[in-house]
Amino acid sequence: MSEIKYTCPYCGKEFDITTYDSVHADDDPDLRERCISGDLFRYSCPHCKKDFMIQYPLVYSDREHQFVLWLSTQEVKDTLKKQAIPLIAQGYRLRRVATIQQLAEKIQIFEDGVSDVAVELAKFDSFIDFTENRNGKKEDITAIEYQRTKDDVMKINIRTDDKGMSFLIPAGSLQEELDQHKDRYAVDDSEFPLIDSQWMTELFQESAGKA
Ligand SMILES: [Zn+2]
Repeated sequence: MSEIKYTCPYCGKEFDITTYDSVHADDDPDLRERCISGDLFRYSCPHCKKDFMIQYPLVYSDREHQFVLWLSTQEVKDTLKKQAIPLIAQGYRLRRVATIQQLAEKIQIFEDGVSDVAVELAKFDSFIDFTENRNGKKEDITAIEYQRTKDDVMKINIRTDDKGMSFLIPAGSLQEELDQHKDRYAVDDSEFPLIDSQWMTELFQESAGKA
C-alpha cells in the first residue's frame, strides 16, 4: 500500500490517494472483491467531489487457483519475468491485463478453472455466429464478455447499445479445438502474455496468412 499525491483531472487540485502494489486474494478476500467490482480503483476528489477511476500497476495473485495477473499498460519487466520461473514450475498461469475490466474478467475465468485461451476462442466463435448467422452488425457491438462456465457450458454475452445476446458454447468442443492445434494456441507464461480478443484475432489472421 502506498500513499501518492494525485492531481485531480477536473479541478487541478492535489490530494492523497492510497494505491496497492499487490493484492493477495487468499489473504485478503476484501481486496479481491474490490478488484472484481473495480472499487479498488475508484476515487473521489475531496475538493470538487467528482468521482473517477485511476488505473495504476498492480500485481494480483491467487494461490488457491494458481495464477498471477499483472495489471499494466506496459510490457512486463525482466525482473518480474525472473520471479515467474518458479511459479510456472508449480503450474501457475501468468498474464498481463491492460485494463481494470480485463483484470476482473480474468480473475473470474481463472477462478472458474477454465482456460482463457478457450474463452477468447468462445468469444471469437460467438462474434462469427452473431455477425454471420444472426444479422448482427459488427459496429453495434460495445463489448464481448465472459459470463461463466457451468455444467461444462461456457456462456458469452455480446453487448450492443440497446441489448445483449447470450451464446452458449460447450466447453468440451473448445478444449478439443485447443488440443488439435496445440502449437497454434501455445502460450508462454514467462512473458506474462496479454490474452485478449485482439490476440485471438491476430492468431487467426496469422494462420489464414500461412494457409
Ligand atoms: Zn477535483
